[in-house]
Amino acid sequence: MRAHTVASEMDLKNKRVLVVGLGKSGISAALYLRGLGARVTVSDSRTGEALASEIPTLLSAGVMVETGGHGMLTFRRQDLIVLSPGVPLSTPEVQRSMSLGVPIIGELELASQGLHGRVIAITGSNGKTTTTSLVGHILQHASFETKVGGNIGVPVVELVEGSTEKTWSVLEVSSFQLETIDTFRPHIAAVLNITPDHLDRHGSFENYAAAKTRITENQTGEDFLVLNAEDKPSQMVAAKTQAQIFWFSGVRRIKQGAFVHGDGVYFLASEGGTPEPIMPLAEIPLRGAHNVENVLAAIAMAKLAGVETAKVREAVASFEAVEHRLQFVAKVRGVDYYNDSKATNVDATAKALASFAGGVRVILGGKDKGSDYTQLLPLLRERSVAIYTIGAAAELIERQLAGSIGTTHAGTLAEAVRMAHEAAAPGETVLLAPACASFDQFENYEHRGHVFVDLVRALPA
Ligand code: ADP
Repeated sequence: MRAHTVASEMDLKNKRVLVVGLGKSGISAALYLRGLGARVTVSDSRTGEALASEIPTLLSAGVMVETGGHGMLTFRRQDLIVLSPGVPLSTPEVQRSMSLGVPIIGELELASQGLHGRVIAITGSNGKTTTTSLVGHILQHASFETKVGGNIGVPVVELVEGSTEKTWSVLEVSSFQLETIDTFRPHIAAVLNITPDHLDRHGSFENYAAAKTRITENQTGEDFLVLNAEDKPSQMVAAKTQAQIFWFSGVRRIKQGAFVHGDGVYFLASEGGTPEPIMPLAEIPLRGAHNVENVLAAIAMAKLAGVETAKVREAVASFEAVEHRLQFVAKVRGVDYYNDSKATNVDATAKALASFAGGVRVILGGKDKGSDYTQLLPLLRERSVAIYTIGAAAELIERQLAGSIGTTHAGTLAEAVRMAHEAAAPGETVLLAPACASFDQFENYEHRGHVFVDLVRALPA
């Protein structure tokens, strides 16, 4: 069932609002709602001990806190429910409230109703953080009043204060956040790609694609939608929008948007117009064809926002890879080590592998998300890749690849780095691009990436 939500800007003074899920955005949402004068309760299924560090701040702001589960009464007495992206809409208490007609929104919707200025929103299965950071970097470089947030770190509600009519809010938005929007309307939206991810939570690829499509549901003919011309599922998004579509392609000239032709990057502002050269391909500092796509999407958005071409070019050329995204770590005994801990799904791992010509030793494994690792087989063969498996998914990956390609069971990241280091010849690359979530052995992908970087730095030179 789709979230039933409020249709217009809300006056929340003295209204009873329940925030479900005490993650970073849930806490910020609760404090923001208090600021609007609402009577706020937060509810989380985790225990009071697990949330000990957050509770005092909330209590001192006058927020009521319920931990260790959701009481039915807590849900029933509310005028509005703000759902954190980590809490599925299918949660029984949420479903019951929904059937009783209580409006349910997410922090993105709540914040967007208070944001001044223009919004650029970026979604996709992979590349969101890289592209969002890059768009923010370009706009900042061009001296636009810019704020960057959303799924990328700073909750959107924290961008509200201080936003003005001149502000550009550049937001990374996930499919979970889009499930609970109502009026959210970005002036410029981008869907970078739609490949299978989070199917454990969305249930099916169709549901997942439908959630991503919601980014454009409130856009009108005055707005822009940037889409990947080489991504089939994105065509479904194109069919649903009222916005003006700008495409991007790393392989061919498109009728309107950003594309690569020969060794240059171009932007075509209108169908039938003359493409404007933006920059030489060689000036893009990020590795891999997937990053060229991210850059093209960012260029299209920056041009649509009105950034001058010279500024776009300078900003792209000075951009550095975001940590844990195909980030170069070190060269040890002639072997390059790359940290792509953020490659938490098969497609991201495929993109990482495709960024190297060959001689790669890749570390795969972690918490499985119901993925099909056999999709990696052509690349693994073509690039003569050695595979080290770790974590809970190790055996599953070994089984799926068995018969076609050899794997080495390492079990832990430390063991995988040690084994790869021992076996690697100068000129080769050791790549952490695990195609899995990290929660079986690590707190999160950042933790996994930091452990990898520490292990690499500790290797004997
Ligand atoms: P997201 O925020 O969508 O997770 P990131 O920029 O953090 O995206 O990158 C996530 C992972 O996906 C990294 O492993 C990165 O190397 C890879 N990646 C980045 N851009 C793309 C893309 N356009 N297509 C496929 N994989 C990508």
